[in-house]
Amino acid sequence: MARILLNKENLFYNLSVISEQTKSKNKVAIVLKDNAYGHGILEIGTMASEFGIKKAVVRTLNDALKIEKLFDYILILAEKSFHTYSHAFHIALNTLEDIDNLPENCNVHIKVDTGMHRNGISPDEIEVAILGLKERNINITGVFTHHKCADELSTDFFWQNIVFTRIKQHVKRICEQLFIPLPVFHSCNSAALFRHANFDEDFARVGIATYGYLDNANIFKFPKLKPVLSLWADKLSSRVLKKGQSVGYGGTYQASEEIIISTYDVGYGDGFLRLNEKNSYTTPAGYKILGRVSMDCLSLNTNDKEVCIFNNVETLAKEHDTITYEITTALNSNIKKEIV
Ligand SMILES: *Cc1c(COP(=O)(O)O)cnc(C)c1O
Repeated sequence: MARILLNKENLFYNLSVISEQTKSKNKVAIVLKDNAYGHGILEIGTMASEFGIKKAVVRTLNDALKIEKLFDYILILAEKSFHTYSHAFHIALNTLEDIDNLPENCNVHIKVDTGMHRNGISPDEIEVAILGLKERNINITGVFTHHKCADELSTDFFWQNIVFTRIKQHVKRICEQLFIPLPVFHSCNSAALFRHANFDEDFARVGIATYGYLDNANIFKFPKLKPVLSLWADKLSSRVLKKGQSVGYGGTYQASEEIIISTYDVGYGDGFLRLNEKNSYTTPAGYKILGRVSMDCLSLNTNDKEVCIFNNVETLAKEHDTITYEITTALNSNIKKEIV
């Protein structure tokens, strides 16, 4: 069966580069949303915890419950209903309307919209939010924002930093007036963390760099990281394709001479996005995908018993005109995972 190998040494290497940049393992919140970008939330969570990471970021309460024992501090980004309370959980407040739905005594990180205009309250709603949360006895444990252009050459990155600096000062003033404890502040994803020459926030929310990728790494002279995930498949069957014969749906690959081909047990049903005659893809060992990828299999010009389909998704991301995030996140959560 198709399987995912997770390289622990590479993960630890990335985590050490990241914690050097934050200056402390305690300032790294590993982003495990969407099954750890397709890598396996429990597998990555367990290894990160062993490395010494104490904080994690997830999408839902359900995900937080899966890793509750592994981390001291879990930020939940996008949950609308709360029925379980844990002192380790911190809930992102994405809109003022949610203040009334939050359970009393829970921990909240207020998300502030500094220019991305996706989630978060606007900077002039901060005082209303703090007063509303205080009235409901909710602990304001954090205030954060998200960058829209951290991995692009654009002045928005600097502009959002300036806006967030002002917000921090504003929040500090309000908290002092109300005698409530100061929250933690955080704004950086992977790219933003590596764009700061001297990172000095309370923690960074690091996703893609953990898994070994940083887009536009060359433009920004980001450090080289090591991909953690590789996808492997087993041979289902082999045959000889005679000159002129074709393989797969539409018969789009035609042999120009007699060759041996085999099918391998991974396809777009497993989340390996469909390639067709318009793309060309070569595996790390130099085998070509012939014709169209099927739901449960694909054909290669080899008869090896097992093949590595990819161990770095940068070229696949380019072929599909997308980002590395989408290639790994698309992988089915039920593909068997092994740590090596
Ligand atoms: C996904 C996400 C991150 C992580 O981003 P990377 O670019 O993968 O490091 C950080 N913060 C928020 C709010 C996110 O949604």
